[in-house]
Amino acid sequence: MKAIILFTFLFFGHSMAFAKHDHKRHGLMPENNILIPANSKKSNSMTKARFDQAIQSVQTAMQPLLNALGTHVSIRNKWDSPIVNAYAAEGYVDMHGGMARHREMTFGGLLITLCHEFGHTLGMSPKYPGRKLSSEGQADYFATLDCMRRVYKSFPALLPQNVSGIPQLYQDHCRYNFYYDPTGLKICLASLKASVSMANVVHAVANPYFGYFSKPSLNKQDPSVVSSTVISTHPQAQCRLDTMARGALCSDQNVVRSQRYSTFGLYNFDFQAHCSTPQYGRPACWYKK
Ligand SMILES: [Zn+2]
Repeated sequence: MKAIILFTFLFFGHSMAFAKHDHKRHGLMPENNILIPANSKKSNSMTKARFDQAIQSVQTAMQPLLNALGTHVSIRNKWDSPIVNAYAAEGYVDMHGGMARHREMTFGGLLITLCHEFGHTLGMSPKYPGRKLSSEGQADYFATLDCMRRVYKSFPALLPQNVSGIPQLYQDHCRYNFYYDPTGLKICLASLKASVSMANVVHAVANPYFGYFSKPSLNKQDPSVVSSTVISTHPQAQCRLDTMARGALCSDQNVVRSQRYSTFGLYNFDFQAHCSTPQYGRPACWYKK
């Protein structure tokens, strides 16, 4: 009898530990069963060297902000993992190779994925309910509003040569908003291009059979208007693209960043980031003012 009780305790105790672990981290997208191992024929042209470079670049570019906030976040390189997702928890980001090998993923898309995960770790509002991690929409917004700029400014060689395919309207917005900032203009265009890649991966994973017909695009926008801010689920791919596009278009001097220090704990700061220009604020498809 004792043995049964002990077994039951061990078994459920173990399960609970896993459940707790899953609850603590947040994926780039909902859990899925797709696996793309390193030797898969389905994979894109991503190499381990490029994967390592993306991780190193984002980690280095983000370090000054982390230092200023007095926190640390490390990216755990999981190139050999076939999992098509990336995760964030307090203090670390898990980047899985399967995600980087998805056919819709580009190098820019990989950078933005890492930036999204970093966005979670900074605990910006709106947050996951009862958690210190930023919600999905805020992590998407931060990725282009702040992180991608840090990455491309720190490593201009990572800026893509080819940014074709961006609708004229978005090109005009980038040119107007970064008129006196040639690097800012390049970053704006590159971030838009990267946003499309990331949104396409998310969409393709969520719609493995008929996704081609409803792909997210900069030529459209999610028309939905939420009655309360979405804080515990992933917005749809189009809404996420809209969010990232707004972050990319917000010119640097309008980004509102505030910090408030409190006394206790590792997360002893309150970091916020949003654009003061209403046009480039967080979209109504997930954010309620
Ligand atoms: Zn996420």
